[in-house]
Amino acid sequence: MTKPGFTTRHVHADRLLNHPTDGAVHASTTNSVLFEFDKTQDLVDVFQGKKVGHVYSRSSSGSVTALQNIITDLEGGIASVCFATGMAAISSTFLSLFKAGDHIIVSQYLFGNTRSFMDTLADLGIELTFVDVTSIRDVIAAKQPNTRAVYAETIANPVTQVSDARAIGKWCEENSLLFMVDNTMTPPPSFDAKAMKASLVMCSLTKYIAGHGNVLGGAIIDMGTFDWTKFANIKSQYQVADESLWGITQIKKKGLRDMGATLSSQSAHLISVGLETLTLRMARSNENALKLATYLEGHAQIERVYYPGLANHPQHFIAREQLGTYGAVLSFDLIPGIEPCEFLDKLKLVLSATHLGDTRSLALPVASTIFFENGQRERARMGITETMIRLSVGIEDIDDLVADFEQALQRSSR
Ligand SMILES: *Cc1c(COP(=O)(O)O)cnc(C)c1O
Repeated sequence: MTKPGFTTRHVHADRLLNHPTDGAVHASTTNSVLFEFDKTQDLVDVFQGKKVGHVYSRSSSGSVTALQNIITDLEGGIASVCFATGMAAISSTFLSLFKAGDHIIVSQYLFGNTRSFMDTLADLGIELTFVDVTSIRDVIAAKQPNTRAVYAETIANPVTQVSDARAIGKWCEENSLLFMVDNTMTPPPSFDAKAMKASLVMCSLTKYIAGHGNVLGGAIIDMGTFDWTKFANIKSQYQVADESLWGITQIKKKGLRDMGATLSSQSAHLISVGLETLTLRMARSNENALKLATYLEGHAQIERVYYPGLANHPQHFIAREQLGTYGAVLSFDLIPGIEPCEFLDKLKLVLSATHLGDTRSLALPVASTIFFENGQRERARMGITETMIRLSVGIEDIDDLVADFEQALQRSSR
């Protein structure tokens, strides 16, 4: 049999990758914090990394390992570590790999909480340069002798800027820099992290992968493309036999074991169930988003729509060529005179809620909520207007979504 397709692999992943012995189609959910050993020497050997096993659930458990096997396969990487949330995956990874005096080139268009976390890194003495990652020239210009990494998101939200990942990945490879990509907005197979030469992929499992707004989780995946012997910050004790695992070993020990934002067994199970339908949900949401963006763009009461699928989007070509899809998040500005909160209150089907990547369509005004703390100047730099509304498009029937916007816009007529 030829290698099964992407969706087939998702649906059967738990069974085929984790081999439950009793015919179960899901890996079992471990409830134990500790693990006993018949022979104490085996406990010692697992502690020392000479044998594979679990000793304490903060560091690893069967349930989380089962999900990690699926996530690694999904992303096409060599290893992954799951965390309690996407932010835990991001913060733990940065704190395990970098130290004062390092320099990181960071996208100026970031998820709000990640942007806020960058201030914490700066306070710890890590130098950051925020650049426009839609332009490889700006990225290259930011390089310093102490630069260790570039950090970007595939499609940023809410303004939907698209990183030039292919060019950045190639340049990072040529300069032995770590290329870290948050692909939450475009989960596989849309963003081919390996082809883009990403070194580490970070992902909020809470969003499209779990997909149903009922569980939090995050992951970091090593794509196996980076030469860790060229990275100055790997501690000697984590320079294990297989050089390709140096990075993930340090993230596992310092980031997960020492910082402790462990994913629960029950959450791991819920995420693995959610991701069985990832491709179906993504296809439907993406299709809905393109139709809705086109509808909104043509409406007299909409001033502007931000969506990479529209031909007039500044990175439409990059998205088409590098992502093969345009995601399911779009933003728009209403014409002056229509107040965003009042408009959102008129929507009946679309929920006023933060979060994205859900089966349900969700909307919120961004300047007064997720980017409130950033202040107007920073918002302007990120391209966020004061009246912008972000919409995460769900899997509902498109006619119902369009009808909901139609009635709300009609009732908002000036
Ligand atoms: C939501 C999100 C995160 C954080 O994930 P949580 O699971 O909510 O902690 C990180 N990056 C992006 C792009 C996100 O959308």
